[in-house]
Amino acid sequence: MVLVDVAAISKSYAGAGGKRIFVTDAVTFSIERGETLGLVGESGSGKSTVARILLGLIEPDAGKVFFDGLAVTGASGAEMRRLRRRMQPVFQDPFAALNPRMRVAEIVTEPLTIYRREAGVDGSRTGLRRQASELMRAVGLDESALGRYPHEFSGGQRQRINIARALALRPELLILDEPVSALDVSVGAQVVNLLRDLQREFHLTYLFISHSMPLVRYLSTNIAVMRNGKLVEIGRCEDICNHPSDEYTKSLLAATPAMA
Ligand code: ADP
Ligand code: MG
Repeated sequence: MVLVDVAAISKSYAGAGGKRIFVTDAVTFSIERGETLGLVGESGSGKSTVARILLGLIEPDAGKVFFDGLAVTGASGAEMRRLRRRMQPVFQDPFAALNPRMRVAEIVTEPLTIYRREAGVDGSRTGLRRQASELMRAVGLDESALGRYPHEFSGGQRQRINIARALALRPELLILDEPVSALDVSVGAQVVNLLRDLQREFHLTYLFISHSMPLVRYLSTNIAVMRNGKLVEIGRCEDICNHPSDEYTKSLLAATPAMA
């Protein structure tokens, strides 16, 4: 069953001399429920723009996005609010996303407080405390983390806190935009393994965005290769990796060995 349907989205900006620069040019893909689409391409190829359109943060100039059959493009404020809790982003910079003045307990339960009514959340003090503890366990952090502040954690731990917060409302889709690019390789690998485990435990669908082919290969069911705003190739992970048809895909694969 298709969860995400992206149909020919385009987004352009005015460049030098009034020329339109297409950052996203007729990009089309879909993601089946429970699967991972890896979106790979070099910096500046338009990956984050796709993520932001999917999240309803920016509107495309043309094209449509559907989530579980509901239009994200052109959604009203109320519709967007309902959609937002079903799809959650995790961004690259694990520190920028965390409010330095909030304790981890408040950070991870804030979405529960915001969506208390419509999500049917137990918003009592003990209810929130229990849910915060469960989230810590899920992302492999000690419960004692709840009373501490973001600056007390390493980059990898902070990204775990971001993931815990993203999971709070039990979303169906995570949009992971370079979630380990700011981390050391070994720390990043641990976070990637965590994402693998969480996908199973929480029945999640992923859009996993990265400039790293080994990471994308490791996590993805399907791979979409993006270059200069266009998808140059899309298909099953094993097909793309074993029989790439596009020269650019071949160069990405050649430059990078597979992860174990
Ligand atoms: P990626 O995530 O693959 O690195 P982005 O989607 O962030 O790529 O950006 C693609 C291109 O679009 C970049 O060259 C960037 O400078 C340009 N871009 C993004 N947002 C804007 C904007 N609001 N105005 C002008 N150019 C933009
Ligand atoms: Mg980006």
